[in-house]
Formats: sequence, C-alpha cells, structure tokens
Amino acid sequence: MTTSEDLFARAQQLIPGGVNSPVRAFRSVGGSPFFVKSARGATLTTADDRELIDFVCTWGPAIHGHNNPVIREAIRKALDDGTSFGTPNPYEVEMAELLTEFVPSIKKVRMCNSGTEATMSAIRLARGFTSRDKIIKFAGCYHGHSDSLLIKAGSGALTHGHPDSAGVPAAFAQETIVLPFNDRAAVEDAFAANPGAIAGIILEPYPANVGLIRPDEGYLNFLREITARHGSILIFDEVMTGFRLARGGVQEIEKITPDLTTLGKIIGGGLPVGAFGGRADIMDYLAPEGPVYQAGTLSGNPLAMAAGIAALKLLNEAGVYDRLEGLGQQISAAMRAALTAKGLAHQVPQTGSMWCTYFTDTLVRDLPSAQTTDADLFGRFFRDCLAAGVYLPPSAYEACFISTAHEGSAIDRACDIMTTTIKNL
Ligand SMILES: *Cc1c(COP(=O)(O)O)cnc(C)c1O
Repeated sequence: MTTSEDLFARAQQLIPGGVNSPVRAFRSVGGSPFFVKSARGATLTTADDRELIDFVCTWGPAIHGHNNPVIREAIRKALDDGTSFGTPNPYEVEMAELLTEFVPSIKKVRMCNSGTEATMSAIRLARGFTSRDKIIKFAGCYHGHSDSLLIKAGSGALTHGHPDSAGVPAAFAQETIVLPFNDRAAVEDAFAANPGAIAGIILEPYPANVGLIRPDEGYLNFLREITARHGSILIFDEVMTGFRLARGGVQEIEKITPDLTTLGKIIGGGLPVGAFGGRADIMDYLAPEGPVYQAGTLSGNPLAMAAGIAALKLLNEAGVYDRLEGLGQQISAAMRAALTAKGLAHQVPQTGSMWCTYFTDTLVRDLPSAQTTDADLFGRFFRDCLAAGVYLPPSAYEACFISTAHEGSAIDRACDIMTTTIKNL
C-alpha cells in the first residue's frame, strides 16, 4: 500500500509544498495532509484506508455527495461521444438555459473553467463596459487568485492597496479599493473620493471565505442602490453560494438583482467549471460581439457541462434545500450546545448547508472580528476531529459544507464525534 506519508514525501520533491492548492497543505492547522484514493457519499477513503466523514465536500461542489451515481452516469454518457470538440456543443446550450432559468438576473452567460476565471473576466467586463478602472472589494472576501482581486482576500492581513501575494504589481493593486464589509460610510466615502472612476463592486454576498458572515439588514440593498446611482456594476460572486443556499443563490434569498454574477463549484458537478453572466447589454460587450476579450480552449467542455447539468437538475427535486437546512441546523445546534456546556466562547453561524465555528465572543461581522477567533484552539479541534474520523476544512477561516448524502447516519455520527471532541478539548 502507498501511504499518505509516502505520497506526500514524493509530492514534496516535485510539487511546491507537495500540493496543487496551498490550503491543502495543512500549514495553518499543523500536521501533514492525507491523500484520498476514493470518495462516495459523505465519506472519503484515504490512501491509508481510513474512512472520514467529509465536511469540505471538495470545497463546495459536492452538494449531492461524492461520486453521485446520477452525475457519474451523465459523465459516462458524455464520455462515449468524446471529451472535447473545440466547437460549440449541445450541452452548452442546455447549460445556458438552466442557468438563466435558475438565476433570473442572468440574461446571458459565458462558461469558463474555474471561479478565478469567472471573477477575473467579470472584472474585466465591468471595466470595459464602464470605461473605468477602479474596483471595490471587501476585506476578507475571496474571489480567486487573479491579480486585481488577491488583495486582503481570505485571511490575508495586509494594509490597504497592497497585494497579498508577491508578483502582483503595486500599480495593479492600486486599482483595487479594499473596504471593510458591512460599513456603508466606507463605500460612500470611496465613491465621493473617486468620482466617475469606480467600474464596480464585487462581493461575496454572504462572505464565506473568512468563516461565514452575514450582511447587516439592508446592506446589500444599499450596495445595489449606490452602484446604480453611480453607473457602477454590482457583481455578486456566488461561486460558493450559488446553488448551495437556494437554486438562485443569495440574490434569490435577499431579493437583489446584481448586474453580473459569477458562478463555479456546484455548476461543474465535480469537474472544473466557472461561469459569469448577467445583464444582456453588459454581456454583449464580450468578444466576439464586443470589445472585451475573453476565451478558453476547454470552456464549455462537454464532460464538464454534462456533469454540471446533472448536478443542477438534481436541485430541482422538491425539498432539497429544506433537507439541507435541517442538516445545517442539526449540526450547528449540536455544536453550540457542546461549546456552551464546555464554557468556551463561540459563535456558530449557519445558513442552509454551510456553517462555521468561531472560537470568540466578539460578534463577527467583518474580517477583523473574524480574526478574533482562537486559531490555535481551532487547530486542536480540527486535529482531534480528524483523528476521530471527521474531516473539517483545514483552516479556522473556512466554511464547512454539508451534502444531501450526509443525511442519516453520517450526520448523527459526525455530531457525536464533534461534540465528544469539544468535551475533551
Ligand atoms: C472558490 C471561490 C472562488 C475561486 O474559484 P476557483 O474555482 O477556486 O478558482 C471565487 N470566489 C469565491 C466566492 C469562491 O468561494
């Protein structure tokens, strides 16, 4: 048997840090990553033959559980006809029809290959459409790793206008205005200080890359109103929340119509997909109709479209979101009860099939308050849960995801394991 330890040793020789995406390296929780050889339903099977109940769900996409038989069958059927054509294919049309039906603010849509591509392209489109350069983003919102957006993203703690990453020119970062979330005055001041210069605002309407934060009452409406007033584009990044919290995402729940929406994760059904769409007049600015260039060799790939279409259609089943909400409530209530009994400061925000655990009694409503969580304590909680068979996201600042496959024994067992772990912390 090739163990995780063997694989990680080999990987570290050839892959920077041994991983193809940094958070997989477990640096913020300690220990070294395990390798997974298969996944089914709510569980992962590691290279070491351990079974883990998984609340990462491939970082969001696996809302129907891992290796869902309906999605697998859709991929198998598409595979028989070929893997990529480099021409338009019928799946792309069906996907566009589904997306515009699920998310009514999307009148036209373009497929791409990741969430990062979606947000990067949406930003370029907003800039091209408005002939303006500046973008507002919020500290703690993560929009992928493109240059304009890798500033105060996730748990990054750098100062205004400085990139989170080496290699992002300061001149690019200066075109991104980073503001605190839930702070109306900051947005008003930014518009006043940059008249006619702000192309748009991009945000996660429920920020979920610093745990899980809810907008204050009326805040999203305020952003809708101020962008409209200044001729700026409002971009909802629903790469994570799209299809997870409702068929139509947070915009359906909050009844807000953004100008552009970015999507990813669930729409790929586990294969690499992103999409961005919105107002037809804006989308028609894209090549070949318009002057904003955006392209992709594998965009609209038939296997990825088939998987995504199957995943979306499964969400049409009656009661899916109620079932997911029930699971979310079960687990967050169990966590709160255990943390209260243990006398630990905590907040366990939950909405639908997403929740997170902050070890703090500071009300979390933006990045600095999220950073009051006790990350060392989270690390201990994470490692103890993993040892007992529950895999949580390996960071104090990530949301946990539940799938329909967790229903029944998996969720009950996970609640037992996590509450016992808290008791013994
Ligand atoms: C995951 C995520 C992205 C980036 O998507 P990738 O497919 O990892 O490039 C962008 N925005 C949000 C809100 C995300 O959660």
